[in-house]
Amino acid sequence: MGTFVNERKFAGEMFEKYEVIRNAEMREYTTLKLGGPAEWLAFPRSREEIIGLFAEAGRAGMPVTVIGHGSNLVVLDGGIPGLVIRVEKNMRGIRTEGNRITAQAGAMLGAVAAAAAEAGLTGLEFAAGIPGTIGGAMTMNAGAYGGEMADVTVRVDGVYPDGRAVSLNREEMEFGYRTSAVSRLNFVVTEVTLELESGNPEAIRAKMAELNAQRAEKQPLDAPSAGSTFKRPEGFFAAALIDQCGLKGYSVGETEVSRKHAGFLVNYGNSSADYMALMRHVQKIVEERAGVRLEPEVRILGKEASI
Ligand SMILES: Cc1cc2nc3c(=O)[nH]c(=O)nc-3n(C[C@H](O)[C@H](O)[C@H](O)COP(=O)(O)OP(=O)(O)OC[C@H]3O[C@@H](n4cnc5c(N)ncnc54)[C@H](O)[C@@H]3O)c2cc1C
Repeated sequence: MGTFVNERKFAGEMFEKYEVIRNAEMREYTTLKLGGPAEWLAFPRSREEIIGLFAEAGRAGMPVTVIGHGSNLVVLDGGIPGLVIRVEKNMRGIRTEGNRITAQAGAMLGAVAAAAAEAGLTGLEFAAGIPGTIGGAMTMNAGAYGGEMADVTVRVDGVYPDGRAVSLNREEMEFGYRTSAVSRLNFVVTEVTLELESGNPEAIRAKMAELNAQRAEKQPLDAPSAGSTFKRPEGFFAAALIDQCGLKGYSVGETEVSRKHAGFLVNYGNSSADYMALMRHVQKIVEERAGVRLEPEVRILGKEASI
């Protein structure tokens, strides 16, 4: 009983100055709609608050996980221990200056692309339909339709968990296929500067509309997913391999290989364990039948549920 009282007092005092939710169900904060609770979920309003949150979590010996919009995540059923910092909600500022756009890491790519169109800046049309934050897009080097964030990024600012500042140019970001220096260096992206070219606002908007229409036609946008589950293997397309192996529509529980686009594993239920089993099954069959090992593009966070 004593422990319980102490724990409540402790919990009440934690993260007092911040916008936080205790035991936040992560299925509400991921596009896949899966995942158990984060012990704490914080929505920082500034880079100073991010530094403060890390310091407080550090003093309590808590692990810290950083997320953006949660559009590339599989959170396991046992949830995420410690503190989860969601950059998306309160850090969305965007400003344009000449050919440059500077956005806070929580700005959604769609909003940054819309600001580019408004300012008559071309080069970001490919990203208009990617449903994540610009911070997440830096970590993943998000890309589509022949473009990727590496093409337009000039500077990335952030903070390390110990509060030190970091500022990297395009080369220092070590952009590769769906990867960058963010994960290796383990810092939080707080602000991103892009450089674009002058263009015609109408033509830019038309291009975005065309690409978004292509997306809607090919992808199961009405079903919860984390986008393409697997990376494109060298020399192949993941979706084509999965389709050729006869896996379209294959299901585990209420998760299934989308019938519309085999690269998307979609979820209609409540079990990350089922989703992970579906991923493993697809990997096994594609490896057996096509001899290709599919590597996850989605990031897997948290722990499995204890029975
Ligand atoms: C329907 C659909 C379509 C998609 N289409 C595409 C596509 O065409 N191309 C593509 O590349 N992706 C696509 N995705 C995947 C996803 O949208 C991108 O990977 C996106 O960049 C992830 O951004 P996020 O903010 O949601 O990041 P999250 O999913 O929240 O996080 C992804 C990774 O980034 C890290 N991260 C997030 N924010 C920060 C930060 N501020 N600082 C440090 N690390 C951070 C997280 O720790 C995690 O490792 C799609 C997803 C869906 C659901």
